[in-house]
Amino acid sequence: MADLDTLVSLSKRRGFIFPSSEIYGGLGAVYDYGPLGVELKRNVRERWWNAMVREHDNVVGLDAAVLMHPTTWKASGHVDAFSDPLIDDKASGRRYRADQLVEGAIDKLEKKGRTDNADALRQRYVAALNADDAAAALGEIIQDEEIKSPDSGAFDWTEVRQFNLMFETATGALAEEASKLYLRPETAQGIFVHFKDVAETARQQVPFGIAQVGKAFRNEIVARQFIFRMREFEQMEMQYFVKPGDQMEAYAEWSEKRMAWHVANGIRPEKLRWHEHEKLAHYADAAQDVQYEFPFGWNEIEGVHSRTDFDLSRHQEFSGKKLEYFDPQTQERYVPFVVETSVGLDRTILMVLADAYREEEVTNGDKAESRTVLKFHPALAPFTAAVFPLVKKGGMPEAAHKVEADLRRQFNVTYDEKGAVGRRYRRQDEIGTPFAITIDGDTLENGTVTVRDRDSMEQETIPAENVRRYLEDQIDAWTPGA
Ligand code: ATP
Repeated sequence: MADLDTLVSLSKRRGFIFPSSEIYGGLGAVYDYGPLGVELKRNVRERWWNAMVREHDNVVGLDAAVLMHPTTWKASGHVDAFSDPLIDDKASGRRYRADQLVEGAIDKLEKKGRTDNADALRQRYVAALNADDAAAALGEIIQDEEIKSPDSGAFDWTEVRQFNLMFETATGALAEEASKLYLRPETAQGIFVHFKDVAETARQQVPFGIAQVGKAFRNEIVARQFIFRMREFEQMEMQYFVKPGDQMEAYAEWSEKRMAWHVANGIRPEKLRWHEHEKLAHYADAAQDVQYEFPFGWNEIEGVHSRTDFDLSRHQEFSGKKLEYFDPQTQERYVPFVVETSVGLDRTILMVLADAYREEEVTNGDKAESRTVLKFHPALAPFTAAVFPLVKKGGMPEAAHKVEADLRRQFNVTYDEKGAVGRRYRRQDEIGTPFAITIDGDTLENGTVTVRDRDSMEQETIPAENVRRYLEDQIDAWTPGA
């Protein structure tokens, strides 16, 4: 598996992902997608949308604004409770998340085989997370266990403070309290406040879902893992509204569908697992995360949460507007329960990159050489195909452009006529292009082209006019290999 640095450097070198405003020294935990990254991101987003909205007649879309009425965030609980417990190392001035320091200490005990101590510490940790003053309880653990700073090795900590993760901004010219706004820290609240509008206009009956893809912002303090943890990122969320009592069935159904989606994207199943929450939010009656084994360990990429009627009830309370549903069949009136699926688009991209990356020894003729290849699912790859004229003369470029134009009606493709064909293959392997189509003398003579498969490196000769259909079939039939 590639380490994170390898992925960061490949991403930059080939134009997937750049650090933001790098000519000015960059901006921490903010990244920009380059030409290849944009295509990859579009493909992932589109597959999510198709799986969630297009393939369910009872799930519809929404695109709410980033800015919302500030009371939204009081009702949702984010103003009071959306915070991380932070602690500073006085020796180095570096800031840490207190919960992560304790988790690190538990891991260390486990690695040393001190299972009893690890279990005891975990119990105390879970109790601290659930304590009224979680910050103080975590601070006490750090003191009692004498947890040292990971960078300086010092044991010289400040108190633990809760730090709200929401970015604030202001509307209008006057900096008065009433004009304070927040950049949304999740897309879900835009869905809740429109629950009734959507149900009525889309003529949906419970159970039904509302799906949305959009930017979210969190002032993450500890953000050192590339696009895993960003300050500006994109979420793909769906809130599914059900009759109270039906939530566990919906929770099981959507959990299964969401895991299947990741596998259908070609992610190796052995690198995916479920993880139950250590601490349930007070309003949730079930919650679990899909985790992926990243180069830096198992980490969350998606959450599936059964949120009861908490969100709609709170918005009802704070707005004074009824957010009930009238069931025409049973003639009952109720506030629906919600099952949420919430996945980070950028985290998914990091997983797709990490999972696709391979360094392989291959034979080229009778020579052994190594290649770097991104074995993306062909439906996710930035370019579906590359088109090469064997040489830059004799009518081959013209014939290649004809094939290219035909493919462009359906796929994103690239044209390359520079250098030896073997070198051109390597360039495409490194950016994950699944098919390379070579136009040679036979094309001019009898209309055939050679299609080379990225994964097997095998070549097949087919009529030029069949290429589009051939690619479609290959994409449908693709299964992840070694
Ligand atoms: P974490 O514990 O890693 O901070 P979270 O539990 O706060 O994540 P949620 O609030 O459940 O995350 O958000 C849902 C999804 O949004 C996450 O599974 C993740 O994929 C994505 N996400 C959350 N925060 C970030 C971030 N700072 N950068 C990139 N993606 C994020």
